[in-house]
Amino acid sequence: MDFHKLKKLSMSPKRFVSVTNRPTGMQLKESELRLSTISPPSAATVIVDNGNGTREIGRNNSMFDRENSTTSMSKISSKTHRERGAVRIARPSISVPRRRPHDDGMEDSLTASGSDTSEDDESDTSPRDHPQANSVGFADFCVRNMKMAAFGRREIELAEQELPGLMALRKKLRAEKSLRQAKIVACLHLVAQNAVLLETLMEGGAEVRCCACNVISTQNEVASALAEASIPVFAWRGQSEEDFWWSIDRCINATDWKPNLILDDGGDVIHWMAKRYPDALQGIRGIVEESATGVHRLHQLTKVGRLPAPAINLNESITKSIFDNLLTTRESIVESLKRTTDMMIAGKQVLVCGYGDVGKACCKSLQTMGAHVVVAEIDPICALQACMEGLKVVKVGEVIKTVDLVVTATGNKRVITREHLDRMKRSTVLCNMGHSDNEIDIASLRTAELVWERVRPQVDYIFWPDGRHLVLLAEGRVVNQNCSSLPSLVLSITATAQGLALIELYTAPAGKYKTEVYLLPKKLDEYVALLHLEPFDAHLSELTDEQCRYMGLSKMGPFKAGNYRY
Ligand code: NAD
Repeated sequence: MDFHKLKKLSMSPKRFVSVTNRPTGMQLKESELRLSTISPPSAATVIVDNGNGTREIGRNNSMFDRENSTTSMSKISSKTHRERGAVRIARPSISVPRRRPHDDGMEDSLTASGSDTSEDDESDTSPRDHPQANSVGFADFCVRNMKMAAFGRREIELAEQELPGLMALRKKLRAEKSLRQAKIVACLHLVAQNAVLLETLMEGGAEVRCCACNVISTQNEVASALAEASIPVFAWRGQSEEDFWWSIDRCINATDWKPNLILDDGGDVIHWMAKRYPDALQGIRGIVEESATGVHRLHQLTKVGRLPAPAINLNESITKSIFDNLLTTRESIVESLKRTTDMMIAGKQVLVCGYGDVGKACCKSLQTMGAHVVVAEIDPICALQACMEGLKVVKVGEVIKTVDLVVTATGNKRVITREHLDRMKRSTVLCNMGHSDNEIDIASLRTAELVWERVRPQVDYIFWPDGRHLVLLAEGRVVNQNCSSLPSLVLSITATAQGLALIELYTAPAGKYKTEVYLLPKKLDEYVALLHLEPFDAHLSELTDEQCRYMGLSKMGPFKAGNYRY
Protein backbone atom coordinates (compact mmCIF):
# COMPACT_ATOMS: atom_id res chain seq x y z
CA MET A 1 0.00 0.00 0.00
CA ASP A 2 1.24 3.46 -0.87
CA PHE A 3 1.63 5.57 2.23
CA HIS A 4 1.78 8.75 0.23
CA LYS A 5 -1.60 8.15 -1.26
CA LEU A 6 -3.05 7.12 2.05
CA LYS A 7 -1.85 10.34 3.51
CA LYS A 8 -3.69 12.29 0.90
CA LEU A 9 -6.86 10.94 2.40
CA SER A 10 -6.25 12.24 5.85
CA MET A 11 -6.94 15.90 5.86
CA SER A 12 -5.94 18.30 8.52
CA PRO A 13 -8.60 20.77 9.55
CA LYS A 14 -6.38 23.50 8.23
CA ARG A 15 -6.81 22.25 4.70
CA PHE A 16 -10.49 22.95 4.69
CA VAL A 17 -10.09 26.64 5.18
CA SER A 18 -7.89 27.39 2.22
CA VAL A 19 -9.80 29.27 -0.41
CA THR A 20 -8.35 29.47 -3.84
CA ASN A 21 -8.77 32.27 -6.28
CA ARG A 22 -10.98 34.27 -4.03
CA PRO A 23 -11.60 37.45 -6.00
CA THR A 24 -10.15 40.66 -4.65
CA GLY A 25 -12.40 42.12 -2.04
CA MET A 26 -13.55 38.69 -0.91
CA GLN A 27 -10.80 37.88 1.52
CA LEU A 28 -11.37 35.00 3.91
CA LYS A 29 -12.61 36.44 7.15
CA GLU A 30 -11.69 35.28 10.61
CA SER A 31 -15.35 34.42 11.16
CA GLU A 32 -15.22 32.00 8.26
CA LEU A 33 -12.36 30.03 9.69
CA ARG A 34 -14.19 28.71 12.70
CA LEU A 35 -16.42 26.47 10.63
CA SER A 36 -13.67 24.31 9.31
CA THR A 37 -13.47 20.91 10.90
CA ILE A 38 -12.69 17.45 9.68
CA SER A 39 -15.52 15.86 7.81
CA PRO A 40 -16.13 14.81 4.27
CA PRO A 41 -17.83 17.28 2.00
CA SER A 42 -21.07 15.44 2.33
CA ALA A 43 -23.53 16.73 4.88
CA ALA A 44 -22.44 20.24 4.08
CA THR A 45 -24.24 23.37 5.11
CA VAL A 46 -24.73 26.29 2.79
CA ILE A 47 -23.67 29.56 4.28
CA VAL A 48 -23.84 33.12 3.11
CA ASP A 49 -21.19 35.35 4.52
CA ASN A 50 -22.93 38.66 5.04
CA GLY A 51 -19.85 40.47 6.11
CA ASN A 52 -20.72 40.36 9.82
CA GLY A 53 -20.18 36.71 10.38
CA THR A 54 -22.06 33.87 8.72
CA ARG A 55 -25.65 32.90 8.25
CA GLU A 56 -26.80 29.35 7.76
CA ILE A 57 -29.19 28.98 4.89
CA GLY A 58 -29.75 25.29 4.57
CA ARG A 59 -28.20 21.92 4.72
CA ASN A 60 -27.02 19.92 1.78
CA ASN A 61 -26.85 16.25 2.61
CA SER A 62 -24.57 15.28 -0.16
CA MET A 63 -22.52 16.74 -2.88
CA PHE A 64 -24.86 15.01 -5.24
CA ASP A 65 -28.04 15.80 -3.42
CA ARG A 66 -29.34 18.28 -5.91
CA GLU A 67 -32.81 18.35 -4.41
CA ASN A 68 -31.62 19.78 -1.16
CA SER A 69 -28.88 21.91 -2.50
CA THR A 70 -31.21 23.42 -5.07
CA THR A 71 -33.62 24.41 -2.38
CA SER A 72 -31.02 25.98 -0.23
CA MET A 73 -28.79 27.43 -2.84
CA SER A 74 -31.58 28.93 -4.86
CA LYS A 75 -32.27 31.24 -1.96
CA ILE A 76 -29.01 32.94 -2.61
CA SER A 77 -29.60 35.53 -5.27
CA SER A 78 -26.73 36.68 -7.41
CA LYS A 79 -27.20 40.09 -5.84
CA THR A 80 -26.75 38.60 -2.39
CA HIS A 81 -23.74 36.75 -3.57
CA ARG A 82 -22.00 39.63 -5.23
CA GLU A 83 -22.84 42.30 -2.75
CA ARG A 84 -22.63 40.51 0.53
CA GLY A 85 -19.68 38.28 0.08
CA ALA A 86 -18.77 34.73 -0.60
CA VAL A 87 -21.10 31.78 -0.75
CA ARG A 88 -19.42 28.81 0.71
CA ILE A 89 -19.82 25.40 2.21
CA ALA A 90 -19.19 24.87 5.87
CA ARG A 91 -18.99 21.57 7.61
CA PRO A 92 -20.79 20.62 10.79
CA SER A 93 -18.52 20.95 13.74
CA ILE A 94 -17.89 17.31 14.49
CA SER A 95 -14.23 16.66 14.64
CA VAL A 96 -13.50 13.05 13.77
CA PRO A 97 -9.89 12.14 14.35
CA ARG A 98 -9.00 10.36 11.15
CA ARG A 99 -6.52 7.61 11.73
CA ARG A 100 -4.74 6.40 8.73
CA PRO A 101 -4.60 2.66 8.14
CA HIS A 102 -0.83 2.74 8.46
CA ASP A 103 -0.55 5.07 11.38
CA ASP A 104 0.95 2.53 13.73
CA GLY A 105 3.83 4.44 15.23
CA MET A 106 4.35 6.37 12.05
CA GLU A 107 2.38 9.45 12.90
CA ASP A 108 5.40 11.69 13.10
CA SER A 109 6.95 10.70 9.88
CA LEU A 110 3.66 10.73 8.07
CA THR A 111 2.84 14.15 9.32
CA ALA A 112 6.28 15.30 8.49
CA SER A 113 5.99 14.05 4.97
CA GLY A 114 5.33 16.10 1.96
CA SER A 115 1.85 14.98 1.26
CA ASP A 116 -1.25 17.06 1.28
CA THR A 117 -1.53 16.62 4.96
CA SER A 118 1.78 18.04 5.90
CA GLU A 119 2.09 21.26 7.81
CA ASP A 120 5.14 21.93 5.70
CA ASP A 121 3.12 21.61 2.56
CA GLU A 122 1.01 24.47 3.66
CA SER A 123 3.88 26.75 4.44
CA ASP A 124 3.43 30.10 2.80
CA THR A 125 7.12 30.52 2.15
CA SER A 126 8.67 29.06 -0.96
CA PRO A 127 11.54 26.59 -0.58
CA ARG A 128 13.38 28.89 -2.94
CA ASP A 129 13.60 31.44 -0.11
CA HIS A 130 15.59 29.12 2.16
CA PRO A 131 19.20 28.07 1.77
CA GLN A 132 19.29 24.27 2.02
CA ALA A 133 21.99 21.64 2.46
CA ASN A 134 21.98 17.92 3.15
CA SER A 135 23.86 16.16 5.94
CA VAL A 136 27.12 16.20 3.98
CA GLY A 137 26.85 19.84 2.95
CA PHE A 138 25.57 19.23 -0.59
CA ALA A 139 23.37 22.17 -1.55
CA ASP A 140 22.57 21.85 -5.25
CA PHE A 141 18.85 21.17 -4.78
CA CYS A 142 15.59 22.74 -3.70
CA VAL A 143 12.96 20.73 -1.84
CA ARG A 144 10.28 21.44 0.73
CA ASN A 145 11.81 20.10 3.91
CA MET A 146 14.93 18.00 4.51
CA LYS A 147 13.48 16.58 7.71
CA MET A 148 11.41 14.29 5.50
CA ALA A 149 14.42 12.57 3.94
CA ALA A 150 14.46 9.45 6.13
CA PHE A 151 10.78 8.84 5.55
CA GLY A 152 11.26 9.42 1.84
CA ARG A 153 14.04 6.85 1.77
CA ARG A 154 11.67 4.29 3.33
CA GLU A 155 9.12 5.11 0.63
CA ILE A 156 11.74 4.54 -2.06
CA GLU A 157 12.81 1.25 -0.50
CA LEU A 158 9.20 0.17 -0.31
CA ALA A 159 8.72 1.02 -3.98
CA GLU A 160 11.80 -1.04 -4.89
CA GLN A 161 9.98 -4.14 -3.65
CA GLU A 162 7.20 -3.51 -6.15
CA LEU A 163 9.34 -2.76 -9.20
CA PRO A 164 10.73 -6.12 -10.26
CA GLY A 165 11.55 -5.25 -13.85
CA LEU A 166 13.22 -2.01 -12.96
CA MET A 167 15.31 -3.67 -10.25
CA ALA A 168 16.36 -6.35 -12.75
CA LEU A 169 17.44 -3.56 -15.09
CA ARG A 170 19.33 -1.93 -12.22
CA LYS A 171 21.31 -5.13 -11.68
CA LYS A 172 22.24 -5.21 -15.37
CA LEU A 173 23.16 -1.51 -15.44
CA ARG A 174 25.24 -1.82 -12.30
CA ALA A 175 27.32 -4.49 -14.02
CA GLU A 176 27.52 -2.93 -17.47
CA LYS A 177 27.62 0.81 -16.67
CA SER A 178 26.00 1.48 -20.04
CA LEU A 179 25.19 5.06 -19.11
CA ARG A 180 28.71 6.09 -18.11
CA GLN A 181 29.09 9.87 -18.67
CA ALA A 182 25.46 10.27 -19.60
CA LYS A 183 24.09 13.54 -18.23
CA ILE A 184 20.35 13.33 -17.97
CA VAL A 185 17.82 16.09 -17.36
CA ALA A 186 14.80 14.26 -16.00
CA CYS A 187 11.42 15.94 -15.72
CA LEU A 188 8.90 13.46 -14.36
CA HIS A 189 6.42 12.87 -11.58
CA LEU A 190 8.68 13.01 -8.53
CA VAL A 191 7.21 9.98 -6.76
CA ALA A 192 8.89 7.02 -5.11
CA GLN A 193 8.73 4.75 -8.15
CA ASN A 194 10.37 7.33 -10.38
CA ALA A 195 13.02 7.92 -7.72
CA VAL A 196 13.87 4.23 -8.15
CA LEU A 197 14.22 4.86 -11.88
CA LEU A 198 16.53 7.83 -11.34
CA GLU A 199 18.74 5.88 -8.95
CA THR A 200 18.77 2.98 -11.43
CA LEU A 201 20.06 5.29 -14.16
CA MET A 202 22.75 6.50 -11.78
CA GLU A 203 23.77 2.91 -11.06
CA GLY A 204 24.40 2.69 -14.79
CA GLY A 205 26.89 5.55 -14.56
CA ALA A 206 24.63 8.49 -15.41
CA GLU A 207 24.52 11.87 -13.71
CA VAL A 208 20.97 13.06 -13.23
CA ARG A 209 19.41 16.44 -12.50
CA CYS A 210 15.68 16.18 -11.93
CA CYS A 211 12.52 18.20 -11.48
CA ALA A 212 8.78 17.61 -11.47
CA CYS A 213 6.61 17.52 -14.59
CA ASN A 214 3.54 18.40 -12.53
CA VAL A 215 3.25 21.07 -9.86
CA ILE A 216 1.24 19.01 -7.41
CA SER A 217 2.27 15.40 -7.89
CA THR A 218 5.61 15.53 -6.07
CA GLN A 219 6.04 13.41 -2.95
CA ASN A 220 7.98 15.91 -0.87
CA GLU A 221 9.57 13.22 1.25
CA VAL A 222 10.87 11.47 -1.85
CA ALA A 223 12.38 14.67 -3.22
CA SER A 224 14.07 15.18 0.16
CA ALA A 225 15.46 11.63 0.12
CA LEU A 226 16.98 12.25 -3.30
CA ALA A 227 18.50 15.50 -2.05
CA GLU A 228 19.92 13.66 0.98
CA ALA A 229 21.53 11.25 -1.50
CA SER A 230 23.18 14.32 -3.09
CA ILE A 231 21.09 14.17 -6.25
CA PRO A 232 20.27 17.60 -7.69
CA VAL A 233 16.50 17.72 -7.37
CA PHE A 234 14.28 20.78 -7.73
CA ALA A 235 10.75 19.79 -6.83
CA TRP A 236 8.10 20.26 -4.20
CA ARG A 237 4.39 19.81 -4.01
CA GLY A 238 2.39 22.94 -4.75
CA GLN A 239 4.82 24.77 -6.99
CA SER A 240 3.72 27.93 -8.71
CA GLU A 241 4.02 28.17 -12.47
CA GLU A 242 7.12 30.27 -11.95
CA ASP A 243 8.62 27.71 -9.54
CA PHE A 244 7.96 25.02 -12.15
CA TRP A 245 9.98 26.75 -14.88
CA TRP A 246 12.64 27.85 -12.40
CA SER A 247 13.12 24.20 -11.42
CA ILE A 248 13.46 23.08 -15.01
CA ASP A 249 15.94 25.89 -15.55
CA ARG A 250 18.01 24.78 -12.55
CA CYS A 251 18.21 21.29 -14.02
CA ILE A 252 19.45 22.48 -17.39
CA ASN A 253 21.58 25.41 -16.40
CA ALA A 254 24.24 24.15 -13.99
CA THR A 255 27.90 24.98 -13.62
CA ASP A 256 30.25 22.59 -15.42
CA TRP A 257 27.37 20.41 -16.51
CA LYS A 258 25.95 20.01 -19.99
CA PRO A 259 23.05 17.60 -20.49
CA ASN A 260 23.29 15.00 -23.24
CA LEU A 261 20.03 13.11 -22.65
CA ILE A 262 16.51 14.30 -21.87
CA LEU A 263 13.91 12.25 -20.04
CA ASP A 264 10.72 14.25 -20.42
CA ASP A 265 7.06 13.80 -19.50
CA GLY A 266 5.09 16.51 -21.25
CA GLY A 267 7.76 18.08 -23.46
CA ASP A 268 8.60 20.90 -21.03
CA VAL A 269 12.36 20.39 -20.91
CA ILE A 270 12.70 20.47 -24.65
CA HIS A 271 10.40 23.50 -24.77
CA TRP A 272 12.49 25.38 -22.20
CA MET A 273 15.79 24.46 -23.78
CA ALA A 274 14.61 25.54 -27.23
CA LYS A 275 13.47 28.85 -25.75
CA ARG A 276 16.32 29.62 -23.37
CA TYR A 277 19.29 27.44 -24.21
CA PRO A 278 19.18 26.68 -27.93
CA ASP A 279 22.96 26.20 -27.99
CA ALA A 280 22.79 23.50 -25.32
CA LEU A 281 20.49 21.48 -27.58
CA GLN A 282 23.51 20.77 -29.77
CA GLY A 283 24.86 18.45 -27.10
CA ILE A 284 21.69 16.37 -26.78
CA ARG A 285 22.08 12.80 -28.02
CA GLY A 286 18.59 11.58 -27.35
CA ILE A 287 15.17 12.43 -25.97
CA VAL A 288 12.78 10.01 -24.34
CA GLU A 289 9.23 11.30 -24.04
CA GLU A 290 6.60 9.64 -21.92
CA SER A 291 3.32 11.43 -22.61
CA ALA A 292 1.02 11.79 -25.61
CA THR A 293 1.13 15.55 -25.15
CA GLY A 294 4.95 15.64 -25.16
CA VAL A 295 5.09 13.38 -28.21
CA HIS A 296 2.73 15.74 -29.99
CA ARG A 297 5.18 18.57 -29.25
CA LEU A 298 8.08 16.49 -30.59
CA HIS A 299 6.18 15.89 -33.83
CA GLN A 300 5.50 19.61 -34.12
CA LEU A 301 9.24 20.31 -33.71
CA THR A 302 10.03 17.68 -36.34
CA LYS A 303 7.61 19.33 -38.78
CA VAL A 304 9.40 22.66 -38.54
CA GLY A 305 12.83 21.01 -38.63
CA ARG A 306 13.69 21.93 -35.03
CA LEU A 307 13.87 18.53 -33.34
CA PRO A 308 17.40 18.60 -31.92
CA ALA A 309 18.11 14.86 -31.58
CA PRO A 310 16.61 11.41 -32.10
CA ALA A 311 13.65 10.88 -29.83
CA ILE A 312 11.80 7.82 -28.62
CA ASN A 313 8.06 8.08 -28.27
CA LEU A 314 7.37 5.92 -25.26
CA ASN A 315 3.71 6.76 -25.13
CA GLU A 316 3.04 4.48 -28.04
CA SER A 317 5.34 1.71 -26.95
CA ILE A 318 3.29 -1.43 -26.67
CA THR A 319 3.96 -2.05 -23.02
CA LYS A 320 3.28 1.57 -22.01
CA SER A 321 0.06 1.88 -23.95
CA ILE A 322 -1.30 -1.44 -22.79
CA PHE A 323 -0.29 -1.23 -19.17
CA ASP A 324 -0.08 2.47 -18.38
CA ASN A 325 -2.60 4.23 -20.58
CA LEU A 326 -5.10 1.44 -20.28
CA LEU A 327 -4.61 -0.46 -17.04
CA THR A 328 -3.44 2.35 -14.75
CA THR A 329 -6.28 4.50 -15.87
CA ARG A 330 -8.79 1.70 -15.50
CA GLU A 331 -7.65 1.10 -11.93
CA SER A 332 -7.35 4.72 -10.86
CA ILE A 333 -10.24 6.76 -12.26
CA VAL A 334 -12.77 5.35 -9.84
CA GLU A 335 -10.33 5.56 -6.95
CA SER A 336 -9.68 9.23 -7.73
CA LEU A 337 -13.38 10.00 -7.71
CA LYS A 338 -14.05 8.05 -4.53
CA ARG A 339 -11.18 9.55 -2.59
CA THR A 340 -12.03 13.08 -3.51
CA THR A 341 -15.82 13.10 -3.52
CA ASP A 342 -17.09 9.88 -1.87
CA MET A 343 -19.42 9.74 -4.83
CA MET A 344 -21.58 6.77 -5.74
CA ILE A 345 -20.79 6.03 -9.35
CA ALA A 346 -23.67 3.68 -10.06
CA GLY A 347 -26.46 5.43 -11.90
CA LYS A 348 -24.50 8.58 -12.68
CA GLN A 349 -24.68 10.18 -16.11
CA VAL A 350 -21.09 10.47 -17.29
CA LEU A 351 -19.55 12.19 -20.29
CA VAL A 352 -16.07 10.96 -21.28
CA CYS A 353 -14.32 13.21 -23.82
CA GLY A 354 -11.87 11.27 -25.96
CA TYR A 355 -12.09 7.55 -26.70
CA GLY A 356 -8.39 6.79 -27.08
CA ASP A 357 -6.55 4.47 -24.69
CA VAL A 358 -7.27 6.55 -21.62
CA GLY A 359 -10.86 7.33 -22.53
CA LYS A 360 -11.58 3.66 -23.26
CA ALA A 361 -10.21 2.65 -19.88
CA CYS A 362 -12.25 5.32 -18.08
CA CYS A 363 -15.42 4.24 -19.87
CA LYS A 364 -14.82 0.59 -19.05
CA SER A 365 -14.19 1.31 -15.40
CA LEU A 366 -17.12 3.66 -14.91
CA GLN A 367 -19.49 1.38 -16.81
CA THR A 368 -18.45 -1.53 -14.62
CA MET A 369 -19.50 0.53 -11.62
CA GLY A 370 -22.94 1.07 -13.14
CA ALA A 371 -22.58 4.55 -14.63
CA HIS A 372 -24.39 5.56 -17.81
CA VAL A 373 -21.50 6.64 -20.02
CA VAL A 374 -21.59 8.66 -23.21
CA VAL A 375 -18.57 9.59 -25.29
CA ALA A 376 -17.44 12.65 -27.26
CA GLU A 377 -14.98 11.93 -30.08
CA ILE A 378 -13.64 13.68 -33.17
CA ASP A 379 -12.19 10.56 -34.82
CA PRO A 380 -14.74 8.36 -36.62
CA ILE A 381 -12.70 5.20 -35.97
CA CYS A 382 -12.66 5.74 -32.23
CA ALA A 383 -16.28 6.85 -32.35
CA LEU A 384 -17.23 3.61 -34.11
CA GLN A 385 -15.27 1.63 -31.51
CA ALA A 386 -17.33 3.37 -28.84
CA CYS A 387 -20.57 2.54 -30.66
CA MET A 388 -19.50 -1.12 -30.87
CA GLU A 389 -19.04 -1.12 -27.11
CA GLY A 390 -22.61 0.05 -26.72
CA LEU A 391 -21.71 3.63 -25.90
CA LYS A 392 -23.59 6.59 -27.31
CA VAL A 393 -21.40 9.08 -29.13
CA VAL A 394 -22.53 12.64 -28.57
CA LYS A 395 -21.41 16.22 -28.97
CA VAL A 396 -20.45 17.82 -25.67
CA GLY A 397 -23.10 20.51 -26.08
CA GLU A 398 -25.88 17.95 -26.47
CA VAL A 399 -25.49 16.46 -23.01
CA ILE A 400 -23.64 19.01 -20.95
CA LYS A 401 -26.77 20.23 -19.16
CA THR A 402 -27.65 16.79 -17.84
CA VAL A 403 -24.44 14.98 -16.93
CA ASP A 404 -23.29 14.39 -13.33
CA LEU A 405 -19.65 13.82 -14.16
CA VAL A 406 -17.35 14.94 -16.96
CA VAL A 407 -14.02 13.23 -17.60
CA THR A 408 -11.67 14.65 -20.23
CA ALA A 409 -9.04 12.39 -21.83
CA THR A 410 -8.18 13.89 -25.20
CA GLY A 411 -4.71 15.43 -24.89
CA ASN A 412 -6.36 18.43 -26.54
CA LYS A 413 -7.17 21.87 -25.13
CA ARG A 414 -10.45 23.60 -24.22
CA VAL A 415 -12.55 20.54 -24.86
CA ILE A 416 -14.79 21.80 -22.08
CA THR A 417 -15.24 25.53 -22.56
CA ARG A 418 -16.61 28.26 -20.34
CA GLU A 419 -19.80 28.14 -22.38
CA HIS A 420 -20.18 24.45 -21.43
CA LEU A 421 -19.33 25.17 -17.82
CA ASP A 422 -21.96 27.90 -17.65
CA ARG A 423 -24.59 25.40 -18.76
CA MET A 424 -23.77 22.51 -16.44
CA LYS A 425 -26.16 21.57 -13.71
CA ARG A 426 -25.48 22.04 -10.03
CA SER A 427 -22.86 19.75 -8.45
CA THR A 428 -21.52 18.37 -11.70
CA VAL A 429 -18.10 16.89 -11.02
CA LEU A 430 -15.30 17.78 -13.43
CA CYS A 431 -12.05 15.95 -13.78
CA ASN A 432 -9.29 15.62 -16.31
CA MET A 433 -7.29 12.51 -17.12
CA GLY A 434 -5.24 14.14 -19.89
CA HIS A 435 -1.73 15.38 -19.39
CA SER A 436 -2.32 19.12 -19.40
CA ASP A 437 -4.58 21.23 -17.23
CA ASN A 438 -6.23 23.01 -20.15
CA GLU A 439 -8.62 20.31 -21.39
CA ILE A 440 -11.18 21.94 -19.14
CA ASP A 441 -10.93 25.70 -19.59
CA ILE A 442 -9.98 26.37 -15.99
CA ALA A 443 -8.49 29.77 -16.82
CA SER A 444 -11.95 30.95 -17.85
CA LEU A 445 -13.20 30.16 -14.34
CA ARG A 446 -10.77 32.47 -12.63
CA THR A 447 -12.96 35.51 -12.95
CA ALA A 448 -14.34 37.91 -10.37
CA GLU A 449 -17.95 36.75 -10.47
CA LEU A 450 -17.09 33.13 -9.59
CA VAL A 451 -16.06 32.10 -6.10
CA TRP A 452 -13.74 29.18 -5.54
CA GLU A 453 -13.95 27.26 -2.32
CA ARG A 454 -11.41 24.60 -1.39
CA VAL A 455 -13.48 21.97 0.41
CA ARG A 456 -10.88 19.22 0.54
CA PRO A 457 -7.40 18.75 -0.78
CA GLN A 458 -7.80 18.62 -4.56
CA VAL A 459 -11.50 19.48 -4.42
CA ASP A 460 -12.81 22.95 -5.23
CA TYR A 461 -16.38 24.08 -5.37
CA ILE A 462 -16.82 26.87 -7.88
CA PHE A 463 -19.87 28.99 -7.24
CA TRP A 464 -21.78 30.90 -9.88
CA PRO A 465 -23.60 34.08 -8.89
CA ASP A 466 -26.93 32.20 -8.92
CA GLY A 467 -25.64 29.86 -6.22
CA ARG A 468 -25.05 26.92 -8.54
CA HIS A 469 -21.72 25.20 -8.02
CA LEU A 470 -19.50 22.79 -9.90
CA VAL A 471 -17.06 20.40 -8.25
CA LEU A 472 -13.59 20.61 -9.77
CA LEU A 473 -10.99 17.97 -8.97
CA ALA A 474 -7.24 18.64 -8.86
CA GLU A 475 -7.78 22.08 -10.41
CA GLY A 476 -8.18 20.39 -13.79
CA ARG A 477 -4.78 18.71 -13.62
CA VAL A 478 -4.43 15.01 -14.30
CA VAL A 479 -6.67 13.63 -11.62
CA ASN A 480 -5.30 10.14 -11.05
CA GLN A 481 -1.74 11.39 -10.73
CA ASN A 482 -2.89 13.71 -7.98
CA CYS A 483 -5.74 11.91 -6.25
CA SER A 484 -5.11 8.18 -6.36
CA SER A 485 -2.44 5.58 -6.02
CA LEU A 486 -0.86 4.26 -9.17
CA PRO A 487 -0.01 0.56 -9.29
CA SER A 488 3.72 0.13 -8.81
CA LEU A 489 3.95 -2.76 -11.24
CA VAL A 490 2.63 -0.58 -14.03
CA LEU A 491 5.07 2.14 -13.07
CA SER A 492 7.81 -0.47 -13.13
CA ILE A 493 6.87 -1.27 -16.71
CA THR A 494 6.97 2.34 -17.88
CA ALA A 495 10.09 3.16 -15.88
CA THR A 496 11.88 0.11 -17.29
CA ALA A 497 10.91 1.17 -20.79
CA GLN A 498 12.20 4.69 -20.08
CA GLY A 499 15.51 3.30 -18.85
CA LEU A 500 15.92 1.00 -21.84
CA ALA A 501 15.01 3.79 -24.28
CA LEU A 502 17.65 6.08 -22.77
CA ILE A 503 20.28 3.33 -22.97
CA GLU A 504 19.31 2.60 -26.58
CA LEU A 505 19.69 6.22 -27.68
CA TYR A 506 22.89 6.71 -25.69
CA THR A 507 24.65 3.57 -26.84
CA ALA A 508 23.39 3.34 -30.45
CA PRO A 509 26.17 3.46 -33.05
CA ALA A 510 26.39 6.79 -34.89
CA GLY A 511 23.86 6.98 -37.70
CA LYS A 512 21.53 4.28 -36.37
CA TYR A 513 18.96 6.93 -35.45
CA LYS A 514 18.27 10.07 -37.47
CA THR A 515 16.82 13.21 -35.95
CA GLU A 516 13.31 11.83 -35.92
CA VAL A 517 10.73 10.51 -33.50
CA TYR A 518 10.93 6.70 -33.18
CA LEU A 519 8.87 4.10 -31.44
CA LEU A 520 10.65 1.93 -28.90
CA PRO A 521 12.18 -0.96 -30.89
CA LYS A 522 9.85 -3.94 -30.62
CA LYS A 523 12.61 -6.10 -29.18
CA LEU A 524 13.01 -3.70 -26.25
CA ASP A 525 9.27 -3.65 -25.72
CA GLU A 526 9.31 -7.43 -25.50
CA TYR A 527 12.29 -7.23 -23.13
CA VAL A 528 10.34 -4.87 -20.84
CA ALA A 529 7.56 -7.45 -20.66
CA LEU A 530 10.02 -10.30 -20.15
CA LEU A 531 11.58 -8.57 -17.15
CA HIS A 532 8.14 -8.44 -15.54
CA LEU A 533 7.05 -12.03 -16.03
CA GLU A 534 8.91 -13.42 -13.05
CA PRO A 535 6.50 -12.28 -10.31
CA PHE A 536 3.71 -14.10 -12.14
CA ASP A 537 5.66 -17.33 -12.32
CA ALA A 538 4.91 -17.30 -16.04
CA HIS A 539 6.63 -19.96 -18.15
CA LEU A 540 7.20 -18.82 -21.71
CA SER A 541 7.05 -21.32 -24.54
CA GLU A 542 10.03 -21.43 -26.89
CA LEU A 543 10.03 -21.74 -30.65
CA THR A 544 11.57 -24.87 -32.11
CA ASP A 545 14.02 -24.50 -35.00
CA GLU A 546 11.38 -25.84 -37.34
CA GLN A 547 8.82 -23.34 -36.06
CA CYS A 548 11.33 -20.52 -36.45
CA ARG A 549 11.82 -21.40 -40.09
CA TYR A 550 8.09 -21.85 -40.66
CA MET A 551 7.19 -18.47 -39.12
CA GLY A 552 10.30 -16.61 -40.27
CA LEU A 553 11.12 -15.64 -36.68
CA SER A 554 14.18 -15.67 -34.47
CA LYS A 555 14.06 -17.53 -31.15
CA MET A 556 15.05 -14.27 -29.49
CA GLY A 557 12.25 -12.21 -31.04
CA PRO A 558 10.86 -9.86 -32.03
CA PHE A 559 7.82 -12.08 -32.21
CA LYS A 560 5.43 -9.75 -33.98
CA ALA A 561 5.64 -7.34 -36.91
CA GLY A 562 5.78 -3.63 -36.12
CA ASN A 563 2.16 -3.05 -37.13
CA TYR A 564 0.71 -5.86 -35.01
CA ARG A 565 -2.17 -4.66 -32.81
CA TYR A 566 -2.08 -6.36 -29.43
P1 NAD B 1 -5.19 9.08 -27.62
O1 NAD B 1 -4.64 9.94 -28.69
O2 NAD B 1 -5.17 7.60 -27.76
O3 NAD B 1 -6.73 9.48 -27.34
C1 NAD B 1 -7.22 10.78 -27.30
C2 NAD B 1 -8.54 10.78 -28.06
O4 NAD B 1 -9.14 12.06 -27.90
C3 NAD B 1 -8.35 10.54 -29.56
O5 NAD B 1 -9.13 9.43 -29.97
C4 NAD B 1 -8.81 11.85 -30.20
O6 NAD B 1 -9.45 11.63 -31.43
C5 NAD B 1 -9.75 12.39 -29.14
N1 NAD B 1 -9.93 13.85 -29.19
C6 NAD B 1 -9.02 14.81 -29.45
N2 NAD B 1 -9.59 16.02 -29.39
C7 NAD B 1 -10.89 15.82 -29.06
C8 NAD B 1 -11.98 16.69 -28.83
N3 NAD B 1 -11.88 18.01 -28.95
N4 NAD B 1 -13.16 16.14 -28.50
C9 NAD B 1 -13.32 14.80 -28.39
N5 NAD B 1 -12.31 13.93 -28.59
C10 NAD B 1 -11.10 14.43 -28.92
O7 NAD B 1 -4.46 9.53 -26.29
P2 NAD B 1 -4.46 8.74 -24.91
O8 NAD B 1 -3.31 7.83 -24.85
O9 NAD B 1 -5.82 8.22 -24.64
O10 NAD B 1 -4.11 9.95 -23.92
C11 NAD B 1 -5.01 11.01 -23.72
C12 NAD B 1 -4.41 12.00 -22.71
O11 NAD B 1 -4.22 11.31 -21.46
C13 NAD B 1 -3.03 12.54 -23.10
O12 NAD B 1 -2.90 13.87 -22.67
C14 NAD B 1 -2.07 11.64 -22.33
O13 NAD B 1 -0.82 12.28 -22.08
C15 NAD B 1 -2.84 11.42 -21.06
N6 NAD B 1 -2.52 10.19 -20.33
C16 NAD B 1 -2.96 10.14 -19.06
C17 NAD B 1 -2.73 9.01 -18.28
C18 NAD B 1 -3.21 8.98 -16.88
O14 NAD B 1 -2.86 8.07 -16.13
N7 NAD B 1 -4.03 9.94 -16.48
C19 NAD B 1 -2.05 7.90 -18.81
C20 NAD B 1 -1.63 7.98 -20.13
C21 NAD B 1 -1.87 9.12 -20.89
